[in-house]
Amino acid sequence: MIMTETLLKHFPKAIEGHKLTIEVVDTLMKTHQFTPKNTLFGFSTCPDELNRDVTSFKSYYGEHQFPLGGLTGYPFRGKTGFAAFSHHAPNNQSEVNFVILYGPHVGISPKGELGKVLRENQFHESTACGAAISFLNKYKESMKNGKKYEPVEDALDMEQYSVEKMMLSHAYRIISSQNHIKELVEVNYMLVDEAMMKIIESLKHHFNGKIALVGGIMINTPHHNGYFDLRRFEVHNTHNEIDLLKKFL
Ligand SMILES: [Zn+2]
Repeated sequence: MIMTETLLKHFPKAIEGHKLTIEVVDTLMKTHQFTPKNTLFGFSTCPDELNRDVTSFKSYYGEHQFPLGGLTGYPFRGKTGFAAFSHHAPNNQSEVNFVILYGPHVGISPKGELGKVLRENQFHESTACGAAISFLNKYKESMKNGKKYEPVEDALDMEQYSVEKMMLSHAYRIISSQNHIKELVEVNYMLVDEAMMKIIESLKHHFNGKIALVGGIMINTPHHNGYFDLRRFEVHNTHNEIDLLKKFL
């Protein structure tokens, strides 16, 4: 199958999102006693409907769930949003934990093209992640016209503006790579991961429980809910100890 070839070529370690969910939930239960009752679930993924069912964490930790991300999966709710979320923990639990799923997404079309998807009830393929690819297209168009691309600040489009501002300094890396879409999603992951690590450091001042980070790239594929290329899986506590759990998966 052509889609599988593309998946294996670019994300050889990716596994089905639902399989990943079971393994992560199981590992967190065995190593740190995370249960649905004592765990809050936050996610910083692109609001694109394609990402809704890539994983199934909500069905495990769903009682208290918080969307923390915006376009491209960047954690736009910021330090304030994360702190607010941490204060919403139920009081009847002696210890409350936090699982945060985060990362950008990229589509693979039925013909195996990276960055494209065929959405349900649509006849034509569209881009995924649309926000990230929109930046890349505008950047290339500007270059073609001999101009340096400058994102336009717009109070009604602040997430897109911020994403483009951040990506701009990595644009050369993207356009000088072999596969622009692959490099774009790698840059996207790097930006989201960097922001997430900084926010978590600040969150540790507000939150006494353990924080599990599940970071990676979501891959939207036809006829499946999707795959997840896990890049970071670790548990942080407030004493700044980090338990690296990726080795279990
Ligand atoms: Zn998107």
